[in-house]
Amino acid sequence: MKLNTDERVLNYLKKKIQESGNVVAILGIEMLVEGGGFDLDTNDETYRVESKYGYSPDDMLSASFFNSKVEKFYRFYKNEVLGMHVGSTPAYDALLRLQQRGKLSAVISQNYHGLPENIHFNRVIELNGNMRSNKCPRCNRRYGIDYIMAADGVPRCENCNVAIRPDIRLIGERGNAHLMTEAVNACAMADVLLILGKNMYSDQLDTTQPDKKQIKVLFSDETFLPKSRADFVIQDEIKAALPIIVG
Ligand SMILES: [Zn+2]
Repeated sequence: MKLNTDERVLNYLKKKIQESGNVVAILGIEMLVEGGGFDLDTNDETYRVESKYGYSPDDMLSASFFNSKVEKFYRFYKNEVLGMHVGSTPAYDALLRLQQRGKLSAVISQNYHGLPENIHFNRVIELNGNMRSNKCPRCNRRYGIDYIMAADGVPRCENCNVAIRPDIRLIGERGNAHLMTEAVNACAMADVLLILGKNMYSDQLDTTQPDKKQIKVLFSDETFLPKSRADFVIQDEIKAALPIIVG
C-alpha cells in the first residue's frame, strides 16, 4: 500500500528504532478508531449523538452530567461507550514486537477503553482510567462491565443501592496527578517517543524534553500538537505505518 509518508522518513525512523533501547508509546483515539471504534468528537458523531440523546457526547461524559442526570448518562454510556467494540490492529502487534525485543519500556494510554483482548504489555499507564473497572462511590465495591450492562437502567451497588461509577476520568475532572507524573517520567527516559493519535481530553501530556536527544513521532491526521513539538508527523494510518517503522 502506498503511504503518504516519504520512504526516506520511514527508513530513518526504522533505523532510529533499531538503535533505540527505550521506546515509549502513547495511545490516543486513532488507535481505537482503527480497531473498529469511533471518535465521538467528530462533527458527524456529535450531530448523531445530539439528535438521539438531546445532548452532546462532551456534555454527557462530564462529571456534572453524571451527578445530575445519571439515568441519561447510563443510557448513552451503555449504548455508545460500552457498546463500542474495539479490536486489535497491526499497530498493537508492532508494539508487541518492540516489547519482545526489550525496547518498549512503557505504554501510556489516554483512552479509557482498555487494551484489546489478548494484547498485554508489561507496563501500561492508563492515565484516564479503564471502563472495565467500576465501583460504588460509597463502599468502593468493584463491579465489572457485565454487571453494568445487565442492569436495568442505572446500575446500583448491591450493598448501598447508590449509582455505581465507571473508573474513568469524566470531563471536568482533573487527571490523576500520580499517574501523570509516572507517565511524564517514562516519556523523559525514552529515546523514541511514539504518539499514536490524539487525546480525547483538552489537556495534553507534557512530553517536552528540551535537554534530551529524543525523537518524537506524532501519528495523526489532525495536527493537534504544534508541529514544532514533534520531530516527525506521520499522516498515515497507524496500523499501516507503524509496522513498517518497527519492522
Ligand atoms: Zn456500595
